[in-house]
Amino acid sequence: SIAYLNGSFLPLEEARISPLDRGFLFGDGIYEVIPYYGGKPVGLAPHMQRMADGLAAIEIKCNKSIEDWRVLLDDLIAKNADQGANLGVYIHVSRGADTKRYHAYPENVEPTIFAFAFPIKDPEPVDRTKAHGYAVSSTQDLRWKRCNIKSTALLGNVMHYQQGHASGHGEILLYNENNELTEASSSNAFIVKDGKVITPIQDHQNLPGITRRIIIDSLKADGSIPVEERTVTMDEVRNADEIWITSSSKEIAPVIELDGKPVGNGEIGQVWENAFRIYTERKFDF
Ligand code: PMP
Repeated sequence: SIAYLNGSFLPLEEARISPLDRGFLFGDGIYEVIPYYGGKPVGLAPHMQRMADGLAAIEIKCNKSIEDWRVLLDDLIAKNADQGANLGVYIHVSRGADTKRYHAYPENVEPTIFAFAFPIKDPEPVDRTKAHGYAVSSTQDLRWKRCNIKSTALLGNVMHYQQGHASGHGEILLYNENNELTEASSSNAFIVKDGKVITPIQDHQNLPGITRRIIIDSLKADGSIPVEERTVTMDEVRNADEIWITSSSKEIAPVIELDGKPVGNGEIGQVWENAFRIYTERKFDF
């Protein structure tokens, strides 16, 4: 695997950073993951805009434009073609390495910019009888109140994911102290009720997922499936006809079991199949 680190391409196993890097010491950085299918990215511009927003929010100066990123990442994808046709790219910008460990943002420190590519699965078949259905659990969301920032400090997410993983689940839904759905530990969440697609509004309690955005915009452009962004209670989640979890690596993943109980009739839903077809037809337009 060929990685990019601070202006150079090199074998991933030779890439080195300082232990004083603030990404290592404090989780002080922003990251992105972008899927490439057959060399084509899904949502490159919105992913890199989200990264720019995150960097601005924590005052890290990285002067690469979306166009600079497009060229750099195309190069990285080409250099990793031997890994397969479908690759994910992980991009990480940390505040960089200071000469001491001190909480305040240092001045005149160059950010550390790192990226590498890794193989990802083929998309699931657009067929409800053939796709993989997830079994998930749920728990109260114990993360911080800035979940809209795609911070590399992921311990809260990691602990929640592990909680689900340890009980044999592939993801865990999270809800706030008012019993309202926020998202999942590494995905956004949607429900379907009476043919309508509903997802929590985007605020400080969840990540502004690019897959989420592409789904909402694709469904609106298509017009055949109503979609709504609003508060979703866990009672609604438990009584939903369908539940989906979405991310760049999962695309739209149907959930067939929540906390040991079937979702709807326990099978992957027809609205999932219709929505996934619409998403699949339009995903390279973003
Ligand atoms: N929420 C969280 C907490 C995530 O980590 C992710 C990405 N893995 C998502 C949502 C989905 O975001 P995206 O669709 O941009 O991958």
